[in-house]
Amino acid sequence: FWLSCLDHFRKELNAQQFNTWIKPLQIDPELNSDDEVVLIAPNRFVSQWVKDNFIAHIENMALMYFGKKIQFHLKLAEPNDAKAVIVKAAPVETPQEPPVELKAAYQPGRKNPSGLNPNFTFDNFVTGKANQLARAGAIQVAESPGIAYNPLFIYGGVGLGKTHLIQAIGNYVQENNKNAKIRYVHAEKYVSDVVSAYQHKAFDKFKLYYHSLDLLLVDDVQFFGGKNRTQEEFFYAFNALIETHKQVIITCDTYPKEITGLEERLVSRFGWGLTVAVEPPELEMRVAILLKKAFQEKMRLDENVAFFIAKHIRSNVRELEGALKRVLAFSRFVGQEITLDLAKEALKDLLAVQSRQISIENIQKTVADYYKIKVSEMYSKKRSRIVARPRQMAMAIAKELTALSLPDIGEAFGGRDHTTVLHGYRKINELRISDPVVNRDFNALILILRG
Ligand code: ADP
Ligand code: MG
Repeated sequence: FWLSCLDHFRKELNAQQFNTWIKPLQIDPELNSDDEVVLIAPNRFVSQWVKDNFIAHIENMALMYFGKKIQFHLKLAEPNDAKAVIVKAAPVETPQEPPVELKAAYQPGRKNPSGLNPNFTFDNFVTGKANQLARAGAIQVAESPGIAYNPLFIYGGVGLGKTHLIQAIGNYVQENNKNAKIRYVHAEKYVSDVVSAYQHKAFDKFKLYYHSLDLLLVDDVQFFGGKNRTQEEFFYAFNALIETHKQVIITCDTYPKEITGLEERLVSRFGWGLTVAVEPPELEMRVAILLKKAFQEKMRLDENVAFFIAKHIRSNVRELEGALKRVLAFSRFVGQEITLDLAKEALKDLLAVQSRQISIENIQKTVADYYKIKVSEMYSKKRSRIVARPRQMAMAIAKELTALSLPDIGEAFGGRDHTTVLHGYRKINELRISDPVVNRDFNALILILRG
């Protein structure tokens, strides 16, 4: 609730008001009951101002949100209150020039020592069911680095916004604390940093740098698999940072336990904080993303064109962006407005490749292999669960990935009725919500099929 409150006020107020009055507020976890919440304010001014101007508003929002009255009280932060520390401005330090070799070996350049790309922000990150947990976790961590969850571990397939999200955290923290020592590093770069420290016998300097960060963002940590020296160094860095309440954020293409060649002690540490997934976006979210990107590019994109693109490009956001760029380039090239016909023309080749690849036979074969049953079970009359569930999975995926009608799909599954297909499709979608294994299988199969 508090997160959505923050969201609301962020939109309602100007940035300065929001940063001054609302952002420093923290919820006191100890004095937080079902009908009373205590907010901690960093000082008397904030407390008074919020009391006078905001409490009534927040209580109204809570009433709408929970359907009952919740009272909000304010309390001043104690000087030694850990939560208050983060809202104080960080002590001003004169930035120190790192020793020359150190800079050469471990820093990506003086221009951008954090390695962050300022274009990745929370503001231009579109939210939907597929990423709302990850985003909520990321916002919490960005607001209280080192305190909320440590580490934050974000995992999911390619092009689903992991890099965008962790860089958004970095940018957010940087904006709120100009002195924060932040480092975004791709895991491959970290590996090569270790190699170069090894070559120069410079592990002391390596440690000095990595262990003194306030925020370390490691992207695509699956690249650590099998690299023992890297894992050892990272283990030290991780411990040093976590012990001093410095924030560590990690992304990966799989769940920690599934990273091949990763030491057990890292696997378990990765699970200490919050582990959240980003999933492939659903249709409406893909449309929202397209509209947002178009808006950013100042291009006109009608909703029906956005729907057309979103319907056909389903794999991930990166490809969605690619398709949009292609449409834009084509429209400039021919000097015509973007219409549905123009989009169809621009994406003709792309779509042809897709529909060739994902045939219903392909789906049946892939799903049968995945569950280790025979392809013939896909059209057999057998109803035992061992074959019935994979069959439903294949039907659901056929519905998702092809443009075939329900009767067409039924036909391909041994002449089944379209209601059977619909039932299977609905069943799988229900299970995807209640049973994480089914959901994981579904997503994995989609990824496999899309190549
Ligand atoms: P990943 O790191 O998971 O492979 P990226 O973060 O590189 O994916 O995302 C690929 C592209 O898609 C980037 O340009 C990113 O800005 C964009 N993107 C991904 N998810 C979203 C989203 N939810 N809203 C807006 N853009 C997104
Ligand atoms: Mg990435």
